[in-house]
Amino acid sequence: MLKATAFNVTCSVEETEKKMKTVIFGPPGSGKGTYASRLQVKLGADVIAMGDIFREIMKEDSPLGRQVKGFVEKGLLVPDDVVIEVLKQRLVKVSSGRGFILDGFPRTIEQAEALDKLVKIDAVILLTVPDWIIVERLSTRRVCRKCGEVYNVRYLKPKAEGACDKCGGELYQRSDDTAEVIRDRIKVYERQTKPILQRYNEKRILSVEFKCEKLETPPEVAVESILRELKKLNLA
Ligand code: AMP
Repeated sequence: MLKATAFNVTCSVEETEKKMKTVIFGPPGSGKGTYASRLQVKLGADVIAMGDIFREIMKEDSPLGRQVKGFVEKGLLVPDDVVIEVLKQRLVKVSSGRGFILDGFPRTIEQAEALDKLVKIDAVILLTVPDWIIVERLSTRRVCRKCGEVYNVRYLKPKAEGACDKCGGELYQRSDDTAEVIRDRIKVYERQTKPILQRYNEKRILSVEFKCEKLETPPEVAVESILRELKKLNLA
């Protein structure tokens, strides 16, 4: 469990050097979490989802929980020093012999620089999706309170209304999935996160891209396409 004061953990990343280390990258609502949870089984990798970690921290009645909430609920980024330390604490927990998929990290150039100092990323999975799909998807998204599985009331419905197929947990709408906050999150992505791609291009990090053009694209279609591209690069 993360504690407000535990910000001085030294990260030993040797254990995470054995399998593929990837970043799944894209705007909010591009499917990062949905695809990462399906890819993790196929790639034998852990998923490190920063947004999920912060939502857990927000449940704590602690100074850190309140600080994080103030940013997340406005669609703003949590400060880099906090995010980077949280990532370090999570990275040391990756089981030896497994790779990982980073979902929602890095989101700023500073975070990308910090990541470079910790591990060498093998590949970037880039998701591109038009803004109208983002708005449509996020405003109808529902998430399981217990396990974080993602649904959509229009085209990715659970078998029983309001309950998670995987664990039976209650489905809810995230407080930052409102029209106004979604627009702000897209702006934050364009301004602070997208420039990281240029950096990865310059460093010649391998990348595969999935372009979503249809609102109802089933997750399996996207995941199969990503796996095909990773295989072509000998990465899966
Ligand atoms: P997500 O679940 O990935 O959409 O993230 C939800 C929210 O958590 C974001 O809008 C940010 O407020 C915060 N967050 C997640 N990842 C990061 C990050 N790498 N840097 C800063 N804030 C983050």
